[in-house]
Amino acid sequence: MLLNYTYRIKPNKQQSQLLEEWLETLRVSYNYALRELKDWIASRKCPIDRCSLESEYIMSADYPFPGYHQQQNNLPKAKKQFPRLKSVPSQVLQTNIRRLHDAWDFFKQRGYGFPRFKKYGQMKSLLFPQFTTNPLTGWQVQLPKLGKVEINLHRPIPDEFTVRQIRIVRKAKGWFAVVTLYSDIEIPSPSLRGRAIGVDVGLFSYLATSDGFVEPGRKFFKTEQSRLKVLQRRLAKKKKRSKNYEKARKKVEKQHNHIAFKRKDYQFKLAHKLCDMADTIFIEDIDFRTMAKSFLGKHSLDAGFGQFRDLLKFVGKKRDVFVGEVDHRGTSQTCPNCRITVSKKLSERKHSCPECKYETDRDIASAQEICNRGIETYRGTPEKQEIGSQVKGLWGEFISPPCKPRRSVGDNMSR
Ligand SMILES: [Zn+2]
Repeated sequence: MLLNYTYRIKPNKQQSQLLEEWLETLRVSYNYALRELKDWIASRKCPIDRCSLESEYIMSADYPFPGYHQQQNNLPKAKKQFPRLKSVPSQVLQTNIRRLHDAWDFFKQRGYGFPRFKKYGQMKSLLFPQFTTNPLTGWQVQLPKLGKVEINLHRPIPDEFTVRQIRIVRKAKGWFAVVTLYSDIEIPSPSLRGRAIGVDVGLFSYLATSDGFVEPGRKFFKTEQSRLKVLQRRLAKKKKRSKNYEKARKKVEKQHNHIAFKRKDYQFKLAHKLCDMADTIFIEDIDFRTMAKSFLGKHSLDAGFGQFRDLLKFVGKKRDVFVGEVDHRGTSQTCPNCRITVSKKLSERKHSCPECKYETDRDIASAQEICNRGIETYRGTPEKQEIGSQVKGLWGEFISPPCKPRRSVGDNMSR
């Protein structure tokens, strides 16, 4: 089992300077390796026996493809040519090249996302892939070539877990260490059982569950967003590449960080709250990135649904709550009680079925339909009876279920 814990680290002046230098060196070597890759590809685009009119890369026909192993093996040679590479731990250099090839493999698989050259300051993290001894000692972390760095271990490392790798990340708010912990113990995946709920995420309400809980929609977070706007406007007026521009840019980045942290915290709390409510949770399998491209646009990115689903799965695993995904198509257009299609526009906030006269809030209706589908999709496990009986009478029993929005998570937070 693998866990990622993030801690804030406080490198001293020399250490943070060294880290900055390393990141810059890594960026350059990343770009160098990418150039090699690109040149090879360009040279293969031109037929061997003739010359292209626009461009030509002469590379012998038997020149091997610059794969990961070849580029990694070239690193020692490159160190002689570029002495600055020597200051960076060699494993960090290797994982940096690995990263490029991961991006390349991803591109080949999906057909989009060709790796790009990184501009100055765009390399933001580096990875120490291996530790033979435990690098964490109380309040310090021992890193190769860097020495002891102060770390805020606000959350203790669980027993029987060992440190596998550490990624150092630079953010506007400071330096962070993402510690990957490994343990042989396998936690069994939660099984389908007990009380089941469906969860519908949307924009008018952040989410609604099949038993009538509604978390109101919000823009993350109104005061923070307006502050961000002010900062961005100030940045736009600064002269590019000036010192004041750089200062303003840092402030914008910090504010972005702040909002992201706050949103994540909120989502964690919400995920725990859902796990309190049920033993089994069903959620839509919708790809929120395509949703963000469509008419709903930026708002759905703002709400970070994809991240929420991942968090919910993670929290569910930890809390022994089954989290399953179901087909999202038409969940909002189906009556959860009698399962006929009831088409409604986005502006219609009420579901009312002409067939069985079932009436409820629109989002709650689709959450109930998600729950129905979840039970149908995942049925077949030994516990099916228990859940099966729940589905039969659930929506039929009360024609209009009590739908009082309960107190939501973080009401004390600014909306
Ligand atoms: Zn109906």
